[in-house]
Amino acid sequence: MEAEQTWDDECDVLVVGSGGGALTGAYTAAREGLSVILAEADDCFGGTTAYSGGGMWFPNNAVLRRAGGTDTPEDARTYYRAVVGDRTPVELQDAYLENGAKLVDYLETDDDFAFQVLPWPDYFGSAPRASDTGRHIVMKPVQPEALGDLRDTLRPTLGVERAGEPLPDLVAGGQALIGRHLLALSRRDNAELRTNTCCEELVREGDTITGAVVSQDGVRRRVRAHRGVLVASGGFERNEAMRKEYDVPGTSRDTLGPATNQGKAIRAGIDIGADVDLMSEAWWSPGLTHPDGTSTFSLWFTGGIFVDDNGERFVNESRAYDRIGRDVIDRIDAGTVTLPFWMVYDDRDGERPPVRSTSVPMGETDAYRDAGLWVSADTLDELATRIGVPADRLASTVARFNEFAAAGRDDDFQRGDEAYDRSFAGGGSPLVPLETGPFHAAAFGISDLGTKGGLRTDAHARVLDRDGAVINGLYAAGNSQAAVSGTVYPGGGNPIGSCMVFSHLAALDMAGRDGGGRA
Ligand SMILES: Cc1cc2nc3c(=O)[nH]c(=O)nc-3n(C[C@H](O)[C@H](O)[C@H](O)COP(=O)(O)OP(=O)(O)OC[C@H]3O[C@@H](n4cnc5c(N)ncnc54)[C@H](O)[C@@H]3O)c2cc1C
Repeated sequence: MEAEQTWDDECDVLVVGSGGGALTGAYTAAREGLSVILAEADDCFGGTTAYSGGGMWFPNNAVLRRAGGTDTPEDARTYYRAVVGDRTPVELQDAYLENGAKLVDYLETDDDFAFQVLPWPDYFGSAPRASDTGRHIVMKPVQPEALGDLRDTLRPTLGVERAGEPLPDLVAGGQALIGRHLLALSRRDNAELRTNTCCEELVREGDTITGAVVSQDGVRRRVRAHRGVLVASGGFERNEAMRKEYDVPGTSRDTLGPATNQGKAIRAGIDIGADVDLMSEAWWSPGLTHPDGTSTFSLWFTGGIFVDDNGERFVNESRAYDRIGRDVIDRIDAGTVTLPFWMVYDDRDGERPPVRSTSVPMGETDAYRDAGLWVSADTLDELATRIGVPADRLASTVARFNEFAAAGRDDDFQRGDEAYDRSFAGGGSPLVPLETGPFHAAAFGISDLGTKGGLRTDAHARVLDRDGAVINGLYAAGNSQAAVSGTVYPGGGNPIGSCMVFSHLAALDMAGRDGGGRA
């Protein structure tokens, strides 16, 4: 847009959003002495990050090393290169790989931040230098009293928001990650955090972004940002039109991102000439379908097999959720899977599906049964008829799978071969035979944790234009940034880990450190 003459607010750094991709940037900028305004469109802080497990993939960091980890930067680089390939620039990959551990050091000098190891195997266990225990840490939980009134400003968990559960007694996972940042920021008088403040446009003067137009409680305000604007406003997963425009599989109904993740600031970047990449990509997952019609991110399967339209297995059901999601999308494209697809399981643990983590808690069994989402039958033949797959194929699929379970080896899809596959089976085989009737089936769809295509940046998180030149004063991180991981999900903690690293680097650049930033 054309620059107008007046500004309503001024700061050094305007941060757009308040998830992991924004708060680390806001914190770093404030700690480096810059004045910060943070604009959050919703009425609470935290975004998808507050819903999340809060895992961070930072190879070779001090927390892992203190716990006896023997990872090396070289091993991490070998692994990351092997799984991401050359889909994203090497400099971007190296920036992530090298700066996660440094960021942990930086945060650990502030008592408001404390970390602990949460072992979580890398998602491509057969790739070179994959780690069986992972490169994964989380923030230590916080007692609610430590947050005081700040807890009221923190987005609650999905269980609270979507299933009416009470607030948990302990602030943990992504809640702890956001809560600790809010606490640290509350101690700095040079950071102002605003809710109900949506970034609508970016202001470009010549080749420089000088600020943004926000809508604050419905009132238009022009915010001048002397050092730059950091767009860390998540993805566009809730914007159905934008999903269609960029061919993102799945629907806005089945994403886990908050309703405000509409991609407005990504669009504002495009409007002032920014380049984008990876726009059809998301962090995928199979999603258990609920009676309200949503299918939500599910993992930790303690049994069951997925079958396609022909009653045949088509995937290693114990591999990481993003890999399963991509397999399902490929089968949909190939015409062999129609949604919903079915998880078939036996009665050893009863009628409820053997799914231990559904992100949105499962409701009452009757509601799923009444909606036709959970189906039971005394025999496999009858079950096949009820879910619309050929009975003879389902019978032979189950018979073959039971042979694999007896042998402890899956010759078709190698379920159990990698460390992640075994992580929810106590390290043992995840192959559980289907032999105890009645038999059951549960409907699944495709869910996502958010889109991961966005503004293309360099290794300092500086946004590039369509000729590849840096746009002065514009930065992007998190799901607003074209993901460093490209078309794969290398390991738990990659989304948040990369959010935090690139927002930190953006803030350092704006502070004039690491050779970047503007005077
Ligand atoms: C159940 C679940 C568990 C997960 N667990 C993990 C995990 O353990 N580790 C991991 O790495 N990843 C995990 N993920 C994925 C991860 O949470 C997200 O990819 C990541 O948090 C996205 O962070 P972000 O900062 O980019 O966006 P978000 O956290 O979504 O924050 C974006 C914020 O920007 C705001 N916003 C949007 N548009 C505007 C605008 N125009 N102006 C102002 N504000 C705006 C939104 O309201 C929102 O608050 C999980 C996801 C889910 C759903």
